[in-house]
Amino acid sequence: MIHATGSLRSSLMPVPSYYRELLQKYFRYYQGLSAENKAIFERRVCRFMYSKQFIPRGMKTIPVEVKVFVAATAVQITFGLPDVHLSHFSKILIYPDNYYSTITRRYHKGEVNPAFGIIVLSMKNFMKGFLYGEDGVNLGLHEMAHALRIENIVRQEYAFFDEPLLERFDQIARRMCGDGSVGGDSVFRPYACTDLHEFFSVAVENFFERSVQFKMQLGELYSIMVRLLNQDPIHMMVNPFSSRVA
Ligand SMILES: [Zn+2]
Repeated sequence: MIHATGSLRSSLMPVPSYYRELLQKYFRYYQGLSAENKAIFERRVCRFMYSKQFIPRGMKTIPVEVKVFVAATAVQITFGLPDVHLSHFSKILIYPDNYYSTITRRYHKGEVNPAFGIIVLSMKNFMKGFLYGEDGVNLGLHEMAHALRIENIVRQEYAFFDEPLLERFDQIARRMCGDGSVGGDSVFRPYACTDLHEFFSVAVENFFERSVQFKMQLGELYSIMVRLLNQDPIHMMVNPFSSRVA
């Protein structure tokens, strides 16, 4: 038997109405989309779900709701990038809560493992992130942002991020971390300065959860994010068919 790929399956099979219902009820980003973009979003959620292997750890099964929301989070950050599906990452591991890593000998909420193409999430923290949608802390967005930045490196043949733009982003990150302008009233929490990858992930969390504040505080950085991700959450200026937002 030939196994249909995720993209083929998602284009052939109807979107389950329960998925649509979940998104409509609970997924704020989806709620703000036009009817046309909602339909595209749903297809991409299905494609993500069918093409990745979801593996439960420390529990028997992963609730379908969690799978839908994890997929929706990945689709959210890549929605302006029509050909980006985080293909390097084929496995999503879900633990019920924080988990102990034998490598770092610490408890983790989530991580991305590029060597094995794995994204790991603690279910409890993932759900918390998206239930408290305006505090700038969102584990799902955070880990998907790591995956996205890594995807841009490993799939160099079509590096989707504009290189000078990403360099400018990193330059601003270094400056902000150097002059101590994170923490306090900044939308950026001090953890962002761990390294450039963490800064990018924290930027993505704030970009979607505290867009207005982010733009007011750090206009240039915000506009770089708009161009990198090719979408603007403030205006929901998402157009997956266009090549680039100006
Ligand atoms: Zn991180």
